[in-house]
Amino acid sequence: MRVDIISIFPEYFAPLDVSLMGKARERGILDIHLHQLRDWTHDVHNTVDDTPYGGGPGMVMKPEVWGEAVDAVIEDGRAARGEDALPRLIVPTPSGRPFTQEVALEYADEPWLLFSPARYEGIDSRVVAEYGERLRTDEVSIGDYVLAGGEAAVLVMVEAVGRLLPGVLGNARSVADDSFAPGAMANLLEGPVYTKPPVWRGHEVPEVLLSGHHGRIARWRRDEALRRTLDRRPELVARLDRDGLDKHDRRV
Ligand code: SAM
Repeated sequence: MRVDIISIFPEYFAPLDVSLMGKARERGILDIHLHQLRDWTHDVHNTVDDTPYGGGPGMVMKPEVWGEAVDAVIEDGRAARGEDALPRLIVPTPSGRPFTQEVALEYADEPWLLFSPARYEGIDSRVVAEYGERLRTDEVSIGDYVLAGGEAAVLVMVEAVGRLLPGVLGNARSVADDSFAPGAMANLLEGPVYTKPPVWRGHEVPEVLLSGHHGRIARWRRDEALRRTLDRRPELVARLDRDGLDKHDRRV
């Protein structure tokens, strides 16, 4: 997967050289290209923002700079991937569509993502209007809070998507067992997990996990996932597929 990120702080993405993402890059599974937005400014101060029309506090990022940057990055990507290639443009904003595991899975199927993390009060809205006509363009929020800039949001999204790419995780089954994974775990949080020793500071590992009985263990894990979801995220339980619930699920 090719990932382009245009930002005024490309150095913010150093963590993508670490751990799983770093290995995915080394192995060519994730091909990440970082771009400095200011490279597309034409004034001595490398200005990327201006005062908002209509007044009010803060500054807004200028459409001309973003337009030139996005066009150039698309051009560069096409030179490498072919004239027909087009990225999916992802614009982080607190007012966007919520980023969920489902969206991460959708993005993991894309060959090319282009992220445009903003600063200040965000990017002039005409940029999304313009690219929305030419590319699949999503405004996406990573949660109901406001960050100082979109870089942290992009790190979150690239890591969530990157770990879903084939070959990135040592054991592909971990994805299927994760919270929110489609199938048995759809809309469920993962339950508690344990490792050795069997007793630590008087806390015992649940006996069923030591039993070696795969059927009972699977049942216990599902019960714990249901209980935890009911307790912590009851709104997710309301979204469970009722027809997919068995008699035992209903007792939990
Ligand atoms: N005034 C904007 C609002 O209230 O929607 C917030 C601007 S925020 C200070 C600057 C930038 O950080 C945003 O344009 C976006 O790129 C990023 N950002 C902040 N919170 C975010 C979130 N929850 N999800 C995704 N991006 C976010």
